[in-house]
Amino acid sequence: MDGLNFKKNDLLVVTIEDMGSDGEGIGKFQGYPIFVKDAVIGDVAEVKIVKAKKNYAYGRLEKVLTPSSFRVTPKCAFHKQCGGCQIQALSYEKQLEWKENKVRNNLLRIGGIPKEVLDEVMEPIVGMEYPYHFRNKAQYPVGTDRNGKLITGFYAGRTHSIVANTDCYLGPVENKVILEYVLAFMEKFFIPAYDEQTGKGLVRHVLIRTGFTTGEIMVCVVINGNSLPQSKEFVDGLLGLELNLNKHITSISISPNTKNTNVIMGDSVKTLWGNSYIVDYIGDTKFRISPLSFYQVNPAQTEKLYGLALEYANLTGKETVWDLYCGIGTISLFLAKKAKQVYGVEIVSQAIEDAKENALLNHIENAEFFVGKAEEVLPEKYEKEQIYADVIVVDPPRKGCDEACLNTMVKMKPERIVYVSCDSATLARDLKYLRENGYEIKRVRAVDQFGHSGHVETVCSLVPTSRQRDLS
Ligand code: SAH
Repeated sequence: MDGLNFKKNDLLVVTIEDMGSDGEGIGKFQGYPIFVKDAVIGDVAEVKIVKAKKNYAYGRLEKVLTPSSFRVTPKCAFHKQCGGCQIQALSYEKQLEWKENKVRNNLLRIGGIPKEVLDEVMEPIVGMEYPYHFRNKAQYPVGTDRNGKLITGFYAGRTHSIVANTDCYLGPVENKVILEYVLAFMEKFFIPAYDEQTGKGLVRHVLIRTGFTTGEIMVCVVINGNSLPQSKEFVDGLLGLELNLNKHITSISISPNTKNTNVIMGDSVKTLWGNSYIVDYIGDTKFRISPLSFYQVNPAQTEKLYGLALEYANLTGKETVWDLYCGIGTISLFLAKKAKQVYGVEIVSQAIEDAKENALLNHIENAEFFVGKAEEVLPEKYEKEQIYADVIVVDPPRKGCDEACLNTMVKMKPERIVYVSCDSATLARDLKYLRENGYEIKRVRAVDQFGHSGHVETVCSLVPTSRQRDLS
């Protein structure tokens, strides 16, 4: 075949056989893939071509002719417009199966890991018990609708237009009351929303974060200025809200952000009332979380993920462990309780400050933290100080580990490597490197942290290959 012979606005009937990495349906027509947002595996759908390329096309779902047996009625009325969820119309069981397959296929195709090895090392995906109201954090943009009415909600997929919705099924139910109060307060005192086009207006975002184990709630208003008018009334009103009995607001702040930028939070935070942080626990480790710190968004699944990382690390109390990409030290502190010594490395200095603070808070004395790039700190320390590791844990961002980092890791010859990944494509690429350089995969398991989205976390353990072990 020499390219597609259909064009924009053509109507086709397509059977959806797979889903892409963002959860979009994929069907085939004349052997070419057609990507169809909102179509789910198993649908037979009428699709209108919106963009035709040489070897593939994008189509719009016009009508589901025969619904997939995996189709469910989404809880949220805004699931199609909203950029937050991509696969809410797929049953949760099928979402899990799809995510597990996605990890498996990436390891197979990108990582070149043989099927027999995967059959042996892959364990079943860890799903959520109840895939709603699991997120502890949301940042709601504030704006106005066509009629000039103040609204808040979420950005529509790939845009900055706001889908008005204060009642998201992924976050805590109390957020609705808080958000409606913020809008009413703004209306009462004629406080305008920020307008990205003109750079005028005041209120940009509302960040709400909840400690699920402590019930502490943080409200931080991001503003295009240095102060919030009537801030005393604002605080009094917030504190007077009737929330669920176990939840209470313990931190109210503003974060000035006057830059014309996509970055949500400003560089600083001013506390209006209460603490400058909330406290939460993962397992029995306590964390102090400030508005600017990174903290995992799904605490229940995070506990399972870290539990697995710890299990895979197989610590006896004698080990020296390096935790690369350590953030605020969440995994490091988990590991420190079972290791002789933990060293954490992280690029964001504020996060390292938090990590040190969290170590103190938990009376952990065997964890030390370094600011810098993992791919620079590790080789430098290895060359100059001949540092040593029994176990190395990595939890890099989506782009995965830098080769200089992987290279030093294998030179350090740890007994175990535990790789926690939020992108199985880059995980697969890095596993390929590690397998080619003396390590073999022992266990792999996907953990669903982000139900209804296309994302999935994976944890993997590696040990030196048998040949290498025999030589040493
Ligand atoms: N392990 C932590 C954080 C994981 S997120 C947790 O579970 O909470 C990945 C972290 O890697 C982020 O904190 C990010 O700031 C950090 N990071 C990104 N690039 C880095 C690099 N080159 N070297 C070290 N840390 C990096």
